[in-house]
Amino acid sequence: MGSSPSEFDPARSLATGTYWMPFTANRRVRKDPQSRLIVSAKGSYCHTQDGSALFDTLSGLWCTPLGHGHPRIVAALQEQAQTLDYCTGFQMTNPATVRLADRIAALAPEELDHVFFTNSGSEAVDTALKIALGYHRLRGEAGRFRMIGRERGYHGVGFGGLSVGGIVPNRKMFAAGMLNGVDHLRHTHDPAGAAFSRGQPAEGADRADDLERLVGLHDAGTIGAVIVEPVQGSTGVIVPPLGYLHRLRDICTRHGILLIFDEVITGFGRLGAPFAAQRFGVVPDMITFAKAVTNGVVPMGGVLVRHDIYETFMTGPENAIEFAHGYTYSGHPLAAAVGNAVLDIVEDEDLFTRALSLEPVLEEAVHHLDRAPGILDIRNIGLAAAIDIEPDPRAPGARGLEIFDLGLKNNLLLRCTGDTVSLAPPFISTPQELRDMVGILGRLIATVT
Ligand code: PLP
Repeated sequence: MGSSPSEFDPARSLATGTYWMPFTANRRVRKDPQSRLIVSAKGSYCHTQDGSALFDTLSGLWCTPLGHGHPRIVAALQEQAQTLDYCTGFQMTNPATVRLADRIAALAPEELDHVFFTNSGSEAVDTALKIALGYHRLRGEAGRFRMIGRERGYHGVGFGGLSVGGIVPNRKMFAAGMLNGVDHLRHTHDPAGAAFSRGQPAEGADRADDLERLVGLHDAGTIGAVIVEPVQGSTGVIVPPLGYLHRLRDICTRHGILLIFDEVITGFGRLGAPFAAQRFGVVPDMITFAKAVTNGVVPMGGVLVRHDIYETFMTGPENAIEFAHGYTYSGHPLAAAVGNAVLDIVEDEDLFTRALSLEPVLEEAVHHLDRAPGILDIRNIGLAAAIDIEPDPRAPGARGLEIFDLGLKNNLLLRCTGDTVSLAPPFISTPQELRDMVGILGRLIATVT
């Protein structure tokens, strides 16, 4: 059955393509597999097979804000694995999972006090959409089947999330599998009016009125939920204009439409508050989360649900399963133990406050690049920022890939989507590391444009 671990050459195997990598230019990787193997990680750095230490500029995929190899997380994982490695989550559960649900509910806005666990952000989104459909049906409003997403939104890769998502290349191939009746709000990115804004753009709250347009078009009685990322992450840190989310909340409330915040990247401190809902002072009806809940160490996601939505499900026959939904690994004890350790560390080291205190450092550093040749826009909020690079007109996206490759040679593990570079460094970064990261990136951008 293949070579022994000591003889195994991962670069050679990677070059064959047996391992089909996710969201990856696989043929490009196969040409230079040696540079793509991360063999260890500690703190804010990933170490590659060829010996480089790469600063983890996006905290993995927005998921490791506490850095890698935290001894308290490792210890919690080992202890849980020795005590209870797995148990069914259907009709039974375990103390670590129940405790984590309590703690997440306590962190969330007051009205959101029930937690349903999943294993990923995609599953969290599909779960929230199903809760919305079930809620309306149980209240006798089954006609509210329509889900509204937003252009440029990313909600994962399940058919639900893909349908409400608004990233065209992700949707194109799967059009035949989309949910019925989905529509999309216009996005809020305004390169003409709000380029190089720091934090929330001042103008643009009225873009929320686009929901009134969809209500007019489809009738509110057909719309079940609106799902938005409070800050759009995957398409490059698109920050909501001041007042936009409040307005969306008001319109949803007025028309009986549920508002779901997809906080898979904003949840657990990225904006300096537990959730973006608190940072922006807007309480949705559900919040989806994943990633940083376990610092990326064991997969976990979930949905925070408003009390009366939960109670609506609790009204049927006493012994019935109220919500025919769940995953074999929902509330996995290892993930829950890690989640509890993460919250312990966050509390003891005050890490959400640390993220907030680093916000001006990152803001200053990225905006120092303002209007350098080849840069079209820079946006930032919390410990997150994005830089739009002028595309090569003959090959959009090529400069992003080139910068990614150059990053590997210059000690940066970057995340480029198309020609946009997103930054979401670990909360444990030092101010100097943030300045160095942006300084190197600025030089790389100048090289390719
Ligand atoms: N929702 C948002 C806002 C995300 O950013 C992501 C992933 O980046 C997802 C959902 C999907 O999460 P996962 O990749 O864990 O399925």
